[in-house]
Amino acid sequence: MRATLLILMLALGGQAGAQPVAPLPFDRILRYDELSVLLRQWADQRPNLVTLESIGTTPEGRPIWFLTITNQATGPAQDKPALMVDGNMHATEWAGGVAALHFLHKLLASYGKDERVTRLLDTRTVYILPRMSPDGVDATLEQGRFIRSVDRPYPDAQPESGIIPRDVDGDGRTVFMRLRDPNGPWKSYAQDPRLLVARAPDEAGGDYWRVLPEGLIEGYDGVTIGDEPEHEALDFGANFPGDRGTTVSQTDGAYPTSEPEIAAYVSAIARRANIVAHVTCHTFGGLVLTPPVNLGEVLPEPDRLAYAALAGKAEALTGYTAISYLDLRSVDRERQIPSAFGWLYNRKGIFSFITEFWNPLTAAGISLENTTASAWLWGFHPVEDELKLLRWSDEKLAGQGFAKWQPFDHPQLGPVEIGGFDLIRYWYNVPFDRLEQEVAPHSEWLVYLGLTTPRLAVRTLMADSIGENLWRVRMVVENTGWLATHGSQQALDMQAVSGVLATLQITEGSRLVEGDAVQQLGQLAGRAGQRSIASWWGYTPGTPDRAVAEWIVAAPTGATVVGRVSHERAGSAHTELVLSAKSD
Ligand SMILES: [Zn+2]
Repeated sequence: MRATLLILMLALGGQAGAQPVAPLPFDRILRYDELSVLLRQWADQRPNLVTLESIGTTPEGRPIWFLTITNQATGPAQDKPALMVDGNMHATEWAGGVAALHFLHKLLASYGKDERVTRLLDTRTVYILPRMSPDGVDATLEQGRFIRSVDRPYPDAQPESGIIPRDVDGDGRTVFMRLRDPNGPWKSYAQDPRLLVARAPDEAGGDYWRVLPEGLIEGYDGVTIGDEPEHEALDFGANFPGDRGTTVSQTDGAYPTSEPEIAAYVSAIARRANIVAHVTCHTFGGLVLTPPVNLGEVLPEPDRLAYAALAGKAEALTGYTAISYLDLRSVDRERQIPSAFGWLYNRKGIFSFITEFWNPLTAAGISLENTTASAWLWGFHPVEDELKLLRWSDEKLAGQGFAKWQPFDHPQLGPVEIGGFDLIRYWYNVPFDRLEQEVAPHSEWLVYLGLTTPRLAVRTLMADSIGENLWRVRMVVENTGWLATHGSQQALDMQAVSGVLATLQITEGSRLVEGDAVQQLGQLAGRAGQRSIASWWGYTPGTPDRAVAEWIVAAPTGATVVGRVSHERAGSAHTELVLSAKSD
């Protein structure tokens, strides 16, 4: 019995304390204060793996939490290649933040137990920003309404006219209002009167409705309702540095990084030169998105192939569909839109992905063949599909996916009915009872993605005695990762990355006779792009993953030299050698 316990303790060795990692709740979305407590708890429970810091403060005064996850005993975070994962760039997309937290929890709870997670944190670094918009998430949880990134007005303090979406009946959700109107464009659907369908083009004399978002009307003259652009439309994704189109939209912000959250995040990324890959977690659609975003953006061939392999693995694990952002854009393809890809991939050459978790349509049994979830964003779909959604809500969500139309006396409009699909809780987000199973396979993929990054190693460090107290020191270095040391071809093309450096350190009393102490070795390939061995057309693989540095050192027998190899994205490694006649 005691022996078993001892073996168990040894198996957990290297882990400071075997205390369990506090669980992540899946039955609710954590308010900011509760999230802060949980993150501190995790940091306290795994101090050898976690560094928790704030990278900035939001305008409402909330620190923006940023976590660095790596086994600190195997080297500092900056000396290892890194995967960056973020969540809640968009306030209403709660499941994205949960996915980032699920991954974080998995890393901490599985380290020392799961070989792949252990290898990942021993050899790589993971950065996690679980909630990019803490103000926005708390606002959506409080107000139950759609907010893109934050409820800060931009560009105007308040629109002069139009609907301000608000939970006017106080039931905790902001849905729709319908009003009887002989000139309304909607009518009840015969098969299920809860649904509204378009009145036929030639139809008159029936019972018609007008539909508005639930809310209050600014500048109401008793008759007309203005259609001003949204005043809380700021989209953090469009606020990254990168190419802005000639027409800047009200989602983009005053200038790149004008928003404090993005300024903090961009600066945190810029200060971490080791980031090779990045995933931002969003909802919805059941998609994994890759560059390009805009017409005219073309990926270099090696990156196209690497993206296909990496996103293909995501498809296999999650069942989601991998597609380029550009191919997803069913409308408005001509307009140049800014996105985080524009900076992370186009400028810095970081392999960046957007995961859009959850697809309520497929959950409800709706076929998306020959269409995409994005077509739904624009409201073009048959009513039969809405019936399926309604049935799904009735049968699987206890009716919660559709708020029953309830009479309400609106302070401005008089008698209305409030109800309709609860877009925020069941479209943008996964029902709580299936949230964990929805995000778990993605965390598997993130482990995989982290393990595909480059990783420098010293293969051998040897010395030949070539004279009295004279040595030829030879260091063979290699990239043991799948991706090349530079990560993407784009990083090379944009000159966003420098090369592999080999350094020889000698002790006092030794002297370098030949060879610079620091030598440039260029880039080392990874195993990516390997072809089938049956391809014999112009295929002459050599050892592009390997390089050699040489020095001639004058030193007494018994002196120590240290060979070091480093690269900002591929990590660093070093080996010591005691010079002796036997050392070759
Ligand atoms: Zn989003």
